[in-house]
Amino acid sequence: MKYVSTRGQMAPASFSDVLLDGLASDGGLVVPAEIPTISAEQRESWRELSYPDLAIEIVSLYATDIPREDLEKIIRAAYSAERFAAPETVPLTKLDARITLVGLSEGPTMAFKDLAMQFLGEVMPYVLQKRDRTLNILGATSGDTGSAAEHAFRGKPNISVFMLSPQGRMSAVQRAQMYSLDDENIHNIAIDGNFDDCQNLVKVINNDAEFKAKHAIGAVNSINFGRICAQIVYYFWAWLRATDALTPEQREATVTTAERETSLISIAVPSGNFGNIFAGHLARQMGLPIHRLILATNENNVLDEFFRTGIYTPRTRENTLVTSSPSMDISKASNLERFVRELFGEDVDAFVESWTQLDSEGTLNLTAFLPRFIEEFGIITDSSTHEDRIETIRSEFEATGVIVDPHTADGLTVARRLNEVEGRILVLETAKPEKFGETIEEALGDETPAPSPELQALLALPQHTVEMTNSADELRDYIVEHAPAAK
Ligand SMILES: *Cc1c(COP(=O)(O)O)cnc(C)c1O
Repeated sequence: MKYVSTRGQMAPASFSDVLLDGLASDGGLVVPAEIPTISAEQRESWRELSYPDLAIEIVSLYATDIPREDLEKIIRAAYSAERFAAPETVPLTKLDARITLVGLSEGPTMAFKDLAMQFLGEVMPYVLQKRDRTLNILGATSGDTGSAAEHAFRGKPNISVFMLSPQGRMSAVQRAQMYSLDDENIHNIAIDGNFDDCQNLVKVINNDAEFKAKHAIGAVNSINFGRICAQIVYYFWAWLRATDALTPEQREATVTTAERETSLISIAVPSGNFGNIFAGHLARQMGLPIHRLILATNENNVLDEFFRTGIYTPRTRENTLVTSSPSMDISKASNLERFVRELFGEDVDAFVESWTQLDSEGTLNLTAFLPRFIEEFGIITDSSTHEDRIETIRSEFEATGVIVDPHTADGLTVARRLNEVEGRILVLETAKPEKFGETIEEALGDETPAPSPELQALLALPQHTVEMTNSADELRDYIVEHAPAAK
């Protein structure tokens, strides 16, 4: 498998290359040159596999330059029982006849990002060691990405993490997960500013090509294809588990069968940067019979607007709202470029022209493609408000005793509202509620469960950060002093 850039100006590269480089050399995003397809027969042959074994099958289609036996070791380490609380790695919980939750938050930081990041935490040090290189990951986080990255890379050879976070703006659990780490290769830098300021600092350093090369600065943000590829696995897993009880005929349900209500499976995805749902899109393009991919946004609804109208208008910084589902508070959806590139087919020039126009005009009109969004890709969208999410958390708890976090509540709100979707809906649980205690308390009041002993112990651990003003010079100095030199 070779990887190319959405913008067409990068020489085809291997999986290991794109894993370390992140962005394509022409400024575009890296995509597989072709999407592998999986026959129904092959898919069914995977039904008895454990989660790690399924991951080996799927990831090996993409990471073709890593020998199979090495990949097996990498993946078994990433999804070991010590790292994921549930024996099945990703458990499914039926809420009612129509809706099932897909438990993606069993990892060390209680959010779905662990599923991708734990894979990177094994595969990146492996590639670095093979190439005798080091990497200094520089990132900005509003909470979930940073903690997942730090827990994936702590103590790993050849790699250090410099993570910028906005001082005093994360939840207590997110702070504890990050700031309690004392591994030598993990640097928590608390910036006197907001998340945008942190992101901006990362951008300034990355635009300094000389500094970047000299100090081997890398990234593990959601545009990293290694993350996307690991996320494809749980779409297959969830679909397989949801159809275990069906007959083979029901599983192959097409539009002509009379059993659509039992056999059609749609998947609802709380979305921000279009990373998670893009993996679902790939799974569907590979041949997994996902009926509808339901994209749910919060009040920062640029993606909802795009898929409804065909017009994509990223928000300005000032217009990006702070919501109770902060990991979805995005101004522009960084992975959307991959999807839009696909719409243009062979015509890379037309794509580049459009995408350039987006930069210069701040908006992009793709209404010509509108009919394909549902017909060809099965994507439908909706959004939730804070009140919706609070109401969903409360009513779900009253009906089933299950507590969902505010991001999952967004997906659940939308899944319940879209009555016209036939069949069953799997809602991806993107985080555990404990991570967002304040919102849960707002929804459940006195009925909010007390934190578990494990959580209390985590919250009580000593925390350490390096405090810094919003200054690129100060950050540069810190990196120079603490980053192992590039090899
Ligand atoms: C990162 C995150 C999201 C958004 O995922 P994208 O891949 O950016 O669409 C949703 N919910 C939670 C809890 C997250 O951490």
